[in-house]
Amino acid sequence: MNKLISIASINDIPPVYRQTPIGLLLEYHNLYRPLDIVDRAQLLVGMCMDNRKHLHIPDNFAFIIRSGGANLRYSEFKVSYAIGVGQVSHIALIGHNNCGMVNLHSRKNEFINGLVSTAGWERGKAEEHFMHFAPMFEIGNETNFILTETTRLRLQYPKIQIAPLFYLVDDNKLYFIEENLTSS
Ligand SMILES: [Zn+2]
Repeated sequence: MNKLISIASINDIPPVYRQTPIGLLLEYHNLYRPLDIVDRAQLLVGMCMDNRKHLHIPDNFAFIIRSGGANLRYSEFKVSYAIGVGQVSHIALIGHNNCGMVNLHSRKNEFINGLVSTAGWERGKAEEHFMHFAPMFEIGNETNFILTETTRLRLQYPKIQIAPLFYLVDDNKLYFIEENLTSS
C-alpha cells in the first residue's frame, strides 16, 4: 500500500493544500476546527458509497459524489456540473481501506445469490449483470486506484486542484496518500 500521511496538526497538511478548501476539509474533519457558516459549496468530494464513513464538515461546504471505490469514471457529468455550475475549483478524492470494490470476483457468488434471494432476480440475469459490470467497477487496490483517478482527473480538469486522500475506517481519520512524483 502507498504511504499515508497522517494529519494531526495544521503543519502536517502539505503546504500546497493549506489555505485551500482541501486543507479546510482536513481541519474540519481531523482537527475539529469549529464549523464555519458556509453559504456556497467550496469543494467537490468523491468518496465511496460504503456505509462506514461520514465527514465532519459544515452544511453547504461540499458537493459529494458517492460511488463504489470513489470511482468517478462514470460520474463525469456530475463532476463537470460541480465545476461548471457549482464553481468549485478543488476536488478531494477519498478512498478507504477494506473497500468492497477490491477483488469483486471473490464476492461473485454472494452478489448473485443476494440478487436472487433479496431482489427476486433470475439467476441468469444476475450472473450476466455481475459479469458485465464487475470489470467496470473493480478498483484493484484502494490507494493505487485513487492515485490513478487523481492523475486522470488532473488531465481532464487542468485548472482544478485535486488531492488523493484516504479514510481509515479503523480511526475515522483522513490521510493524504503520498504521491511519489519523482521516484517509483
Ligand atoms: Zn469502498
